[in-house]
Amino acid sequence: MNKKRSLTGDRPTGKLHIGHYFGSLQNRVKMQEDENLERFVMIADVQALTDNFNEPQKVRNNVYEVLKDYLAVGIDPNKTTIFLQSMIPEIAELTVFYSNLVTIARLQRNPTVKTEIAQKKELFGESVTYGFLGYPISQAADITAFGGELIPVGEDQEPVIEQCREIVRKFNSIYGDVLKEPEAVFSKEKRIKGLDGNDKMGKSLGNAIYLSDTDEEITKKVMGALTDPGRIKKDDPGNPNICMVAYYHNLFSKGEVKEICEECKAGKRGCVACKKQLIENIIKELNPIREKRKYYEERPEELKRILMEGTKKAQAEARKTMEKVKKAMKLDY
Ligand code: ATP
Ligand code: MG
Repeated sequence: MNKKRSLTGDRPTGKLHIGHYFGSLQNRVKMQEDENLERFVMIADVQALTDNFNEPQKVRNNVYEVLKDYLAVGIDPNKTTIFLQSMIPEIAELTVFYSNLVTIARLQRNPTVKTEIAQKKELFGESVTYGFLGYPISQAADITAFGGELIPVGEDQEPVIEQCREIVRKFNSIYGDVLKEPEAVFSKEKRIKGLDGNDKMGKSLGNAIYLSDTDEEITKKVMGALTDPGRIKKDDPGNPNICMVAYYHNLFSKGEVKEICEECKAGKRGCVACKKQLIENIIKELNPIREKRKYYEERPEELKRILMEGTKKAQAEARKTMEKVKKAMKLDY
């Protein structure tokens, strides 16, 4: 039986945060138990450059930070092929082929791209680059280069996966049935909000708790998190529905959250005590991850070996896809 494939990845624009952890990393680790699946995880350094073209060193530094986060949460290189996007030239080639199949109007309508462009006004000014506008095309190339069918991503990526499906259908209808249509796989927690109450925790939004944060950093961030602004005195009744501390208790304090919210509503639990409890629970959850990360921090050669071995495997797979694509497009000289 042909195994299904999953393909996913992250942009090395910073370390990974708890949005990644609950939104996609846990799912990727769980998917490693599925024996009928071949898994690929890509460090998307080329895509990172679309909105960091002026900071190449930052992208380079974060390649290994993301790799350490992967290994620390339990992505196992023996079960998952971890590879580097810039070392797969077929992805760039496919991007060129697919750009004929997508209109500019369709890219501009993509709600994820729209939101992200609005957030990057400072970088792009009035006119966005061709590369950033087109990142859904290169993401379609990432996925299809490996025949990815299951794509474990956060909810913010749904419109980008939808656009990939359209590209696949169009390609197959013109050139023949070569590419597979992917589907997004969401975690139970589809999109994790930021410390500031923003709809999404994001590396570039400055509202994240990182998996590698120290106790002090976690404490500082939680202490500064958005709480019910109407609650002034300690015994005022609070509204947990508009409090980010209550929101994160939902993720980190599973057994205790009901009591926490009831006491908050009754004005029996002060914000400071509530935050301290959250800090303790976050640290408890992240401790084993940070320990494992430390192991790899001390072994840069091992990291390099893991990444290069994975990339070699990925290169062979992308070459196979390219052969089929070029044949279908009558470019097989
Ligand atoms: P950037 O701000 O640089 O775009 P990011 O935090 O959005 O960084 P990405 O590398 O763009 O992270 O996203 C990688 C994956 O993580 C995607 O599948 C995305 O959906 C998922 N993800 C990122 N942030 C969250 C979040 N807050 N909740 C759930 N999933 C998330
Ligand atoms: Mg993003």
